[in-house]
Amino acid sequence: MSISLIKNKKLWGLIACHHDSPNYLSYEVRTACEFLGQVMSLELAAKEENEDLDYKVKLKSLQSNFIENIPQQDSLLDSLLSREANLLELANATGAAICWNDQFHTIGQTPSLEQLTDLLTWIEAQDQGNLFSTDALPKVYSAAESFSAIASGLLALTISRMNRNYILWFRPEVVQTVNWGGNPNKPIEISDNGELRLSPRKSFALWQETVRGQSLPWKSCELEAVLELRTAIVGIVLRQADELTKINTELERSNNELDSFAYIASHDLKEPLRGIHNYSSFLIEDYANVLNEDGISKLQTLVRLTQRMEDLINSLLHFSRLGRVELDLKQTDPNELVQTALDILSISHKQTNVELRCPRPLPSVMCDRIQISEVFTNLISNAIKYNNHEQKVIEIGFLDPDPSSRKRQVDISEAPEMITTFYVKDNGIGIPEHHLDNIFRIFKRLHGATKYGGGTGAGLTIVKKIVERHGGNIWVKSVVNEGSTFYFTIPHQTA
Ligand code: ADP
Repeated sequence: MSISLIKNKKLWGLIACHHDSPNYLSYEVRTACEFLGQVMSLELAAKEENEDLDYKVKLKSLQSNFIENIPQQDSLLDSLLSREANLLELANATGAAICWNDQFHTIGQTPSLEQLTDLLTWIEAQDQGNLFSTDALPKVYSAAESFSAIASGLLALTISRMNRNYILWFRPEVVQTVNWGGNPNKPIEISDNGELRLSPRKSFALWQETVRGQSLPWKSCELEAVLELRTAIVGIVLRQADELTKINTELERSNNELDSFAYIASHDLKEPLRGIHNYSSFLIEDYANVLNEDGISKLQTLVRLTQRMEDLINSLLHFSRLGRVELDLKQTDPNELVQTALDILSISHKQTNVELRCPRPLPSVMCDRIQISEVFTNLISNAIKYNNHEQKVIEIGFLDPDPSSRKRQVDISEAPEMITTFYVKDNGIGIPEHHLDNIFRIFKRLHGATKYGGGTGAGLTIVKKIVERHGGNIWVKSVVNEGSTFYFTIPHQTA
């Protein structure tokens, strides 16, 4: 006879009763046994509650200590990593791996980076809510057999699926010897006449089993502790996001102010400058006979300098205006924009000293037509200007999307990240490596004011601002005396 012991609506154990000869038990005795089983079942739950009380208290204090200290560091990841031992203690684990924005940081004994990457992909596919735990990982994930010695137990906490932020805890394999009251996989007996028959167990002789690929089980208080850690981290992340929003709003306001300031200042500077220019011109015209040669030459320089200053102010005005107008995003064919740029620069395919190559038609993108046309005009104009070659070769094209450079798409509801990278390549004078960043600074020219056809040094700054306003990036690769390639990206979901 057996009496069931039930805990949390699940069979927890049995009281097995044996007798060496058939024995009839009265209804009263059976009812009493059943009652005994019920009382024991109730006791079981209470007993586990009180069990490990010291351990639970320790976990709680560890947890609050840990959480209290997190906000003291700038980065959440740094604070998690700076308290390695505590992070392991929190789940009584021997190894942990933090996946933060797609990068792994490991503590203690963990599987290799490659194994972790595959494991995480598998965990993500399980769709188990925020906490996934198992004390027999190789049983559910066969690839874990190769690292079962260090990670037979896994506790995986999801902080954010979208940003791929996870914390994994590992426990090593504990080879256990389980004593059974008889072989649980008792073979089916075949009787003399060949029939299969289920028969009661005749012997309860000790039967031992060696269990592998299993760790010590995760206690419910440990699971609770890591879930509370998640709540705390999410709270901090939300607070930080809030602060970031505030900073961004402030930044936007001060950027707008700066744009207005640049606009007003450059606009107002133009008037007195016009006066200086005009009066210098009048002096040359009306007083030429009074002035000597040196005086006239100085006035001519003054006129030239005011002209240059006006050019600079106009560039600044144009630059500040960019920040003040809304982007007019439309599906645009960049091949047309390139053609417009070539028309503006009066370059035709037939022009002998400029060879224009377009290996394949450019894909259409969502962008502000006028502004991206200015990007192409600037880059193509520079490709011709900064070129000493008899035969100037310019290539305009786009790169094939590189899947490895894209952020992995975890959440299918997330808009796919489509980015087109255009390039303008020349065989010109090139740019020294230490100047590759400088050229994007306003009014920065690497040459004298009149060399290479002159210029204000604002072109690339304007190009950069336009590309960034579209949510893209711009960069350059260059070899001195061989040529430069300017790349810029236009993300597709900007519409
Ligand atoms: P500008 O052409 O008016 O001087 P830009 O901002 O367009 O201003 O360019 C800044 C500087 O970057 C240029 O003075 C030049 O030295 C360098 N530069 C730009 N494009 C190229 C290029 N294609 N090849 C070599 N140097 C370049």
